[in-house]
Amino acid sequence: MPDVSPTRHGPPACPTCGRPVARPGPCDAPACQTRARVAEGAALAARKRAVEIRRAEQAATRCRPLAVAAMRQLGLDVPAKVAVGPLTDRPLRRPEDSELQALAAHVEGLLAASFGPDPAQPRPPETPEPEAAALRSDTVPDDPPWVGALCVACRGLCCQGGRRSHAYLSRGTIDAVRHAAPDLTHAALRDAYLSALPQQAVVDSCLFHGVAGCTLPRRLRSDICNAYECDERVRLRESGAGADGTPVVAVAVRRDHHAFTAAGALPVRVVSATAAHGLTLHENLALPAMPGEADG
Ligand code: SF4
Ligand code: SF4
Ligand SMILES: [Zn+2]
Repeated sequence: MPDVSPTRHGPPACPTCGRPVARPGPCDAPACQTRARVAEGAALAARKRAVEIRRAEQAATRCRPLAVAAMRQLGLDVPAKVAVGPLTDRPLRRPEDSELQALAAHVEGLLAASFGPDPAQPRPPETPEPEAAALRSDTVPDDPPWVGALCVACRGLCCQGGRRSHAYLSRGTIDAVRHAAPDLTHAALRDAYLSALPQQAVVDSCLFHGVAGCTLPRRLRSDICNAYECDERVRLRESGAGADGTPVVAVAVRRDHHAFTAAGALPVRVVSATAAHGLTLHENLALPAMPGEADG
């Protein structure tokens, strides 16, 4: 039976308050306008999320052969979970002395500000937020290797700002570290930071970013470093992929790889995390073609 209800054929109405409007959509009332904007934002976010999920599934399908190849290189005949994350293609090198000196001077300035002028009476640190303090406890476990594998493969796309900002270290970081460990002296803290620097760091990235990821213990890092994770890493961690001992193969590739469909069109970095071998960087592996696309 055809729909003959008056709303279907009558003048358009505001979807919130029902008042007649000249054209379909919200009326001029601020509350109705706000509600429409919120709904629009939510719909946009849902569409974006759907695209992200589809892209993540596509990426996992494309990179699955790399997980098989990585397991083969290790002589393992077991299925692995594949996790795809972003890539930075910067090499590693020994930092210049001037770069190390600049970082050391920054740390020294923060320590001086936190401890105050009288070494015998260091200024008590301000109380940090409880969550930030919890992150600095020695009992907080480090990342499980199968989560860290993604960052090792990526080589710190999110850490590049750490170069100019000196690892985002601030007076607040030092205060929070001291609040969690009040016995640490000025000299011991200086030593803890400077001895954590890797021999080789990713070019134009944070000086603490070495070949196996961040070398700064979590309890010494800035809050932003402890809090930030990219979407790919959040998805991997929340999936619990490697928690039961299943090997995880992390594949780092440019986020826009779907625009480059041919096999080998872009570089990849592949890192596996297995109980038997820990973290392994796999050389000589090439990005497969996008499924359904011809090679070349
Ligand atoms: S959190 Fe994401 S962007 Fe940052 S290093 Fe890890 S994988 Fe790369
Ligand atoms: S301290 Fe570690 S987590 Fe923070 S920017 Fe540097 S490398 Fe990245
Ligand atoms: Zn209205």
